[in-house]
Amino acid sequence: MPKTLIIGQGIAGTLLAWELRNSGVEVHILDGRLPGASSIAAAGIINPVTGKRYVKSWRFEEFYPIARQVYRNLEEALGVALWEERPILRLLATPEETNDWSVRCSQEDYLPFLSERDHADKWGKLLKPGFHFGLIHQSGRVNLPLLMERFRNYALEKGFFQEKTVSPEEIEALTTKYDQIIFCEGWRGETNPFFPETPFRVSKGEALLLRFPGLEAAEWPEEMLKKTVLVAPLGDGLFWAGSTYRWHFPDTLPGEDGRSFLLDHLYEMLSVPFDIVDMVAGIRPTMIDRRPVLNQSHLNPKVYMFNGLGTKGTLLAPFFARELATRLVHS
Ligand SMILES: Cc1cc2nc3c(=O)[nH]c(=O)nc-3n(C[C@H](O)[C@H](O)[C@H](O)COP(=O)(O)OP(=O)(O)OC[C@H]3O[C@@H](n4cnc5c(N)ncnc54)[C@H](O)[C@@H]3O)c2cc1C
Repeated sequence: MPKTLIIGQGIAGTLLAWELRNSGVEVHILDGRLPGASSIAAAGIINPVTGKRYVKSWRFEEFYPIARQVYRNLEEALGVALWEERPILRLLATPEETNDWSVRCSQEDYLPFLSERDHADKWGKLLKPGFHFGLIHQSGRVNLPLLMERFRNYALEKGFFQEKTVSPEEIEALTTKYDQIIFCEGWRGETNPFFPETPFRVSKGEALLLRFPGLEAAEWPEEMLKKTVLVAPLGDGLFWAGSTYRWHFPDTLPGEDGRSFLLDHLYEMLSVPFDIVDMVAGIRPTMIDRRPVLNQSHLNPKVYMFNGLGTKGTLLAPFFARELATRLVHS
């Protein structure tokens, strides 16, 4: 079995390590806990139907069952709740949106995913009047920040994790110790010299963490809520609201522009006051063609990249980590 080094422990590195270890491969992970990491800012939402035209997500039926199985196995191994299935209440603001939704609901391949709804359930008393509603099924959320933390602790305990930032100059020496090295660096892969032509187009995302003062536990909405931004219940009366998309950004930190954008869109939906508890930011490792990257370096055949999870790492990582692991085990 090839001895393998993984550089980066976001969702890509975590799931690749998990799959390789399950195949009996000796794995080590190095992660520098660098600013701008995406997995710890994400809400980990899986949404089968996205965009203004309510289009089904790429190969959703293929990816979703694997994601559910992998995250449930991880829950069991790590002894922590990570996976939850929760519908999304979609707000429809105009007659065109309501009409487009009805048309989609009547299409056979959308039947398992969309339905019409005549009420907003517990969101009703928090919303502005005038919306129509739709419901998205087979959606859910994985607690990515918790998964990152628990898997790191598990890996530390088992002796296969070390906190360290790796520079490209160190790779030659590392290839004498390892049979293969997989870069799972997220957006930092953009400047990786072993993969000079990878078509990155990274984007900064920001989100707010909210509470609704005075709202009793029995009144906390259970469904996620979506218009331009998505609001997801995290438990204990805490809600995640995001996110922004910035293609040009001076730093990796939450910014004033992002905050105003999110607030404007929250005020558009909500009729009640809320407290901002925190704001988070991360950089999404998106590619121009929006497809994941599982590449071997032309400059050094022992070096690979697992990247490009973009806006959908939660859904895509389990499938592609398994695919790459199979390739690596047989290489
Ligand atoms: C605000 C926001 C909201 C999002 N919401 C969702 C969502 O709801 N659902 C969803 O599916 N996706 C969402 N995403 C996208 C999702 O976060 C990404 O698809 C996914 O997390 C990418 O994971 P990754 O492992 O490739 O990268 P990252 O999570 O960025 O991990 C890369 C890791 O590599 C380490 N690293 C990098 N270079 C080195 C080096 N040289 N040496 C050592 N360590 C290194 C870093 O420290 C980091 O830990 C969101 C993103 C953002 C920013």
